[in-house]
Amino acid sequence: MKKYNFNAGPSMLPREVIENTAKQILEFNGGGLSLAEISHRSKDFQPIIDEAEALAKELLDIPEGYSVIFLGGGASLEFCMIPYNFLINKAAYLNTGIWAKKAMKEAKLFGEVVEVASSADANYSFIPKGWTVPTDVDYLHITSNNTIYGTEMRTDIDVPVRMIADMSSDLFSRPVDVAKYDCIYAGAQKNLSMAGVTIVIAKNDALGRVPRQIPTMLDYRTHIEKGSMFNTPPVIPIYTAMETLRWIKANGGVQAMDKLAKERAEILYAEIDRNKLFRGTVKEEDRSLMSICFVINDEYAELEKPFLEFATGRGMVGIKGHRSVGGFRASCYNAQTIEGVEALVSVMQEFEANH
Ligand SMILES: *Cc1c(COP(=O)(O)O)cnc(C)c1O
Repeated sequence: MKKYNFNAGPSMLPREVIENTAKQILEFNGGGLSLAEISHRSKDFQPIIDEAEALAKELLDIPEGYSVIFLGGGASLEFCMIPYNFLINKAAYLNTGIWAKKAMKEAKLFGEVVEVASSADANYSFIPKGWTVPTDVDYLHITSNNTIYGTEMRTDIDVPVRMIADMSSDLFSRPVDVAKYDCIYAGAQKNLSMAGVTIVIAKNDALGRVPRQIPTMLDYRTHIEKGSMFNTPPVIPIYTAMETLRWIKANGGVQAMDKLAKERAEILYAEIDRNKLFRGTVKEEDRSLMSICFVINDEYAELEKPFLEFATGRGMVGIKGHRSVGGFRASCYNAQTIEGVEALVSVMQEFEANH
């Protein structure tokens, strides 16, 4: 039976990206060795990381003066690297979920942290509006897509300070006005690659301003100066990221990804709103195009488990919601197809007809 992958992360990648990576793992560039057993400094690998960097810059139209680097440690390591490198006295954080909170926790180790707004009281079911940022902060940190709760800030907001964003689960799904940010980071296993690499886009002249000593490996400048090759980078995940970026470019770039994301989300939210068994969990205007969360309506509560079993039996993978929201979550990253979303919709309709 055909499987439809709605996993939240690690998550679906385009089939050709997987196939091309698999081929290179068997034999890299026809050189008789695997991609897994060559030096990251070999003349064959350098063009891969160069191409990944160049494609990221091209696809997001990254202005001059920014660097793109590939690091280990996941987005979670960035939670401390951000304040280490950018927090001088005071930083502002928008608390839109567990990831935002974790980022805030690390920042408190380095300076004063202002929580500009929070939707914690409503289990993060909306993006707070109408807040202001103190103008004397070093940066405002936001989480553009709240993977767990299914809320998203899909536009680059206007604030009077520099922004830093965790875009782990929506980077490369839309055009981004990079000039508004001092730093953007994303754990790659949601929308770019397999687990093991984090992409960081940093404004060069925003670095080096903090008074503190930074351990070498945690200093963004170390990795920028060495082109992500200060130490051994995650070679295979970087290769896969490069393949995904090629795929995005070949499929029309981030504008096309954005259009497809809107089409997918429209189909699925329309069914969630129409189907008597289900409802969305998020304020409509803040609904994520990437992480689509829904629950069973209260009067059908006993159907939650049966629906999960029914859908799983029909090839739907990874639709169980995160434990802090419950219900269901269909992750619809770039690689998700209209066909996949339509398959889920027909499973929802069939289940409704049976009850
Ligand atoms: C998954 C996720 C993280 C954590 O990523 P790791 O790479 O596992 O550290 C951070 N932020 C967001 C928005 C995420 O979705």
